[in-house]
Amino acid sequence: MSNLRFQALNTSINRSQIKVDDSTLRSSLFAKHVFNTQAMRQHLTKDAFLAIEEAKEKNSKISRSTADHIATAMKEWALKHQVTHYTHWFQPLTGATAEKHDAFFETTSEGYAIEKFDGSQLVQQEPDASSFPSGGIRNTFEARGYTAWDPTSPAFIYGTTLCIPTVFVAYTGEALDYKTPLLRALQAVDASAVAVCKYFDKNVRKVNASLGWEQEYFLIDKALVASRPDLMLTGRTLLGHAAAKGQQLDDHYFGTIPNRAMAYMRDLENECMLLGIPVKTRHNEVAPNQFELAPIFEEANLAVDHNSLLMDVMQKVADRHHLKVLLHEKPFAGVNGSGKHNNWSLATDTGVNLLSPGKTPMSNLQFLTFFINTIKAVKEYEELLRASVASASNDHRLGANEAPPAIVSIFIGNQLSKVLNELETVSKGKLSPEEKTDLKLNVVGKIPEILLDNTDRNRTSPFAFTGNKFEFRAVGSSANCASPMTVLNTIVAKQLQVFKLEVDTLIDEKGMKKDDAIFNVLREYIKQSKTILFEGNGYSDEWKKEAKKRKLSNNIATPEALKVKVSQPVLELFEELGVMNSVESKARYEIDVEEYVMKVQIESRVLGDIARNHIIPIAVSYQNRLIKNVTGLKTIYGASYKTYAEEALTLIESISHHIASINAMVRDMTNARKKANVISDISKKAQMYCHDVKPYLEDIRYHCDKLELLVDDELWPLTKYRELLFFS
Ligand code: ADP
Ligand code: MG
Repeated sequence: MSNLRFQALNTSINRSQIKVDDSTLRSSLFAKHVFNTQAMRQHLTKDAFLAIEEAKEKNSKISRSTADHIATAMKEWALKHQVTHYTHWFQPLTGATAEKHDAFFETTSEGYAIEKFDGSQLVQQEPDASSFPSGGIRNTFEARGYTAWDPTSPAFIYGTTLCIPTVFVAYTGEALDYKTPLLRALQAVDASAVAVCKYFDKNVRKVNASLGWEQEYFLIDKALVASRPDLMLTGRTLLGHAAAKGQQLDDHYFGTIPNRAMAYMRDLENECMLLGIPVKTRHNEVAPNQFELAPIFEEANLAVDHNSLLMDVMQKVADRHHLKVLLHEKPFAGVNGSGKHNNWSLATDTGVNLLSPGKTPMSNLQFLTFFINTIKAVKEYEELLRASVASASNDHRLGANEAPPAIVSIFIGNQLSKVLNELETVSKGKLSPEEKTDLKLNVVGKIPEILLDNTDRNRTSPFAFTGNKFEFRAVGSSANCASPMTVLNTIVAKQLQVFKLEVDTLIDEKGMKKDDAIFNVLREYIKQSKTILFEGNGYSDEWKKEAKKRKLSNNIATPEALKVKVSQPVLELFEELGVMNSVESKARYEIDVEEYVMKVQIESRVLGDIARNHIIPIAVSYQNRLIKNVTGLKTIYGASYKTYAEEALTLIESISHHIASINAMVRDMTNARKKANVISDISKKAQMYCHDVKPYLEDIRYHCDKLELLVDDELWPLTKYRELLFFS
């Protein structure tokens, strides 16, 4: 057996069980390392506390002297927890989180040392950010980037560092991160939703978007991962024949959690508790060694921060357990990949979930208003929503009969479909008193009891209503949730604005009563949104045909999917709602496309290298062994050797065929890359990588995987699927 594989298997087998001390009650650990409202009440003066609360609610500015006070209090609190450094924690467009630590430690002019942290250090920093992707923004404006404190997400202690969540923007104001547009989108949806809420309740002052993500992941022994250059460099296996047993027995899903995974999960959950990430659910997923973790939902900005932080914590904790977390959307062929469902809703400061049916016809009309407007928003911008989850890695998952297709549609269930059908027949103009009574008693009034048995969930739908929230299931496991959340909240914000305008027009110009106007507008929306509603099997081929008839987009590959981001209506949408100006939108498009190119390029190089330098040499040496065998048989049996050498001869021929094919394809793939690399138009380049380079990955893999079945297991250089995918 090859050295690397042999050593890896040996190390992984000898792992001792790691004991986790989690005897402390979870609730007593919760948010101990977070400078949250409770900690702030304890450590801040009343004025400073109120200043932060006001900043959170109204985006008001915090004065320099208040910031100084807050910084000092934060420092004192952190020092009690043995913290030595602080950092502005942000989410640049690389997808990972970024941090640059500075010590509190400083020397004075008198020559002694102190621990110092003041308001200016809290509020703003200038990291040397020239190496983060900016899509040309920084070059164009020759501006530096700076980070600025986001008081809506509390500071936290990670290891021995005080982390201050921040936005990352260019000096000219353009966003260079995920958080800035998200915050702007959340403000937009807040404003639009509050305005619409006023039809139903004058007391509503604020509407928060909520997000509950469900994170899927694979856990693989670290030594085994290290033995696979493809996993190390691309996060997925670029080759490897399926194990005889995969997920066909359905014996992993919701099964007993393996001991080793359980120890990891308990340790991870402890860390999450300290960081205030309210994780609640854990279970095995469909594929072997695949698991899921889900928290209690939170305000969307905080939830996004928590998910970004979690992805980092997951790796750090895994390291202690000699494990590696794979967040790639499709690390293994032939078994399910990983997603990250985004459960989303809107809630008022008066405690009402706007997507939860209420107890009275009036609150149900409010529910229907938000429900139907969300549907309409998705209908109008389905292609943009698809683009928000587009990435090279997610392309492997969407449409692969394990995750929703690349076509966005909405599932609402039987009962709500009926409600919409009835609402569609509401009279035009003013409603008669009888019709109103009927609506109240038989349609709107019936919703609560209906939803209790709204259990026919459709797992194949990318965007499903699940009783009190929508669940966007096309998000990839490695994605930053900010991207889909920015789009979803923006399009709903826009839609609610349009709705308000239309209702007000009917009231002001047609003299309609408020209820009549709302029913009238909703009726039209139901009619206009029909094509996005789909209750059937989203995995089926019939749906693809049907969706085409309905003129829904079906952008299978990322380069196609991303284009809509720079279409005129989308540029205008983001601009109008103050979420991104066209420079920011275009920059992001460029970054996304470039990332796609680089991902495929890296995979292509890695596979070329593995195929040429690992697989072929081994195949050749096994082939030589067979040739020697045939020559030996010839010596013994003379002319009749063929009777005995039949098997070896066939093998030699097959191996020769696969080797020749691999060689030719690696050469052609390299040439295709060279051709694409000289193209300066990034969109064109991405198309070339998608259509001219990427197909080779599958074709080369096919031959390598065939060789895996032919070559002596002892010689095979790469750790096999059956070894990677099952804990010992
Ligand atoms: P599943 O999709 O696996 O059946 P659940 O129905 O249990 O899962 O819920 C999944 C996620 O939805 C959880 O993380 C939960 O916190 C979240 N969730 C529940 N209510 C809301 C809400 N109003 N807004 C956002 N997320 C929510
Ligand atoms: Mg779910």
